[in-house]
Amino acid sequence: MIGLENIEKRFGDAVVLRGVTVSIEEGSVTALVGPSGGGKSTLLRCINLLEIPTSGTLRLGDQQLVFHPGQRVPRDAIQRIRRQTGMVFQNFQLFPHRTAIENVMEGLVTVLKWPADKARARAMALLEKVGMAHKADAWPATLSGGQQQRVAIARALAPSPKVLLCDEPTSALDPELAQEVVDVLAELAKEGTTMVMATHDLRLASTIAKEVVFLDGGMVVEKGPARQVFTHPEHQRTKRFIATLT
Ligand code: ADP
Ligand code: MG
Repeated sequence: MIGLENIEKRFGDAVVLRGVTVSIEEGSVTALVGPSGGGKSTLLRCINLLEIPTSGTLRLGDQQLVFHPGQRVPRDAIQRIRRQTGMVFQNFQLFPHRTAIENVMEGLVTVLKWPADKARARAMALLEKVGMAHKADAWPATLSGGQQQRVAIARALAPSPKVLLCDEPTSALDPELAQEVVDVLAELAKEGTTMVMATHDLRLASTIAKEVVFLDGGMVVEKGPARQVFTHPEHQRTKRFIATLT
């Protein structure tokens, strides 16, 4: 479903991803874990092409792109990949001057050119799914962090992406508010939503991830079924990292 092959990302002289190869099955949840600076966010951003990989191959559904250093990637190719992804950020990033439901409708109306009433109906259904229908007309600033993140998840799901990318979706939240976000993500996972999430939250990773990829220094140190990586890590670096979390 998603294939990353030998993805390298450089920023100037800094090599941030050093040949990352990962494949992600449809309907599965993959957690990206590892120390800060390991390359998790950059890898997520390379999947939706917010960052263009320096080299390597990205496959998403039936699209495939091969990157070469210094070579421009056509805008429409980027759009075709990006439209198949939804992204959830650590700090929610809702549009502050739009209500909750308007946030969810925005992409449907402006990018996909849906009529407003159809977009509103879909947005309302998604707000219901994340338990936020009662706050449809609220401004983001009046919502708790957990509520804002649930609206952001609804917004990311609105265009029916093939994959939901989440970058530390619970890191900005107190444990109680994080739990309501974990519950929503767990429900989506149960329904078979394909997700890739960078997280420090072992509770999140171990509750919902099927696969774990441990990234350190821009390399995949270890990957495998979540249970195996968390309970029987093979590599010293993974063991040390997991010990710091528990
Ligand atoms: P993580 O999400 O695992 O903490 P990141 O992907 O954010 O890691 O960062 C990996 C490395 O890439 C870090 O050393 C960071 O400083 C560097 N990096 C990320 N984005 C940029 C950028 N736009 N320009 C230069 N360096 C960057
Ligand atoms: Mg990060």
